[in-house]
Amino acid sequence: MTQREPEDHVPTSVPAAGDRRRFPAPAHLVFFHGPMDCGKSTLALQVDHNQSRQGRHGLLLTQGDRSGAPRISSRVGLSQDAVEIDGGTDLRLLVRGRWADGHRVDYLIVDEAQFLDPGQVDQLAELVDESHVDVYAFGLTTDFRARLFPGTQRLLEVADTVERVQVQVLCWCGLPARLNARVVDGVMVREGATVVVADTAPPPPLGTAEPEVRYQVLCRRHYVRGELGPTAAGPGQLALS
Ligand SMILES: [Zn+2]
Repeated sequence: MTQREPEDHVPTSVPAAGDRRRFPAPAHLVFFHGPMDCGKSTLALQVDHNQSRQGRHGLLLTQGDRSGAPRISSRVGLSQDAVEIDGGTDLRLLVRGRWADGHRVDYLIVDEAQFLDPGQVDQLAELVDESHVDVYAFGLTTDFRARLFPGTQRLLEVADTVERVQVQVLCWCGLPARLNARVVDGVMVREGATVVVADTAPPPPLGTAEPEVRYQVLCRRHYVRGELGPTAAGPGQLALS
């Protein structure tokens, strides 16, 4: 009778647990999206807090934050330093540069992700798949024409997980508001450049001749009708100032 090693009884089709070391736990690309003022930046900072509390090191990216500085800041008063990027930033080179400088980057927090170039979203996916960096992206769903932002569309196409942010924003009528209306001098407009003023951009200086541009979240019915509510300063109003 021959003595057999225990390994001989393990079916070859089932990889041994030790194989996990050769295949590290996969990273994920997670996209959170919603209308303006749904709490995306607050959630971004919360995710960063939760991750860093586990001893992980993150890199925060944003563009056009409401503070006008390279920070992620939320309407409830939280804020955190961040790296300001633009459509030409190669996010792979940015992360590799951090590594070359001796910094750990275990995860990325990307706020205002609707402004990403679709190619930058693919760069994020590459960081996830090839470098095992977790990516948490936060952005607006649609622009003022009720069309997906290009960065949002690409994230919806390639993200591992897509979550609609559940903080409910209400139209002035009380129904859930999911669409962002652009209001110029008190009138809703449906034409114009996709990006004029970011969700979070600071208001233009007082006394300028620029038309007053603001955004207001509406339910679909009132978006289609272009109805901004009974009073100019009614509930559901989203003034930038
Ligand atoms: Zn409504």
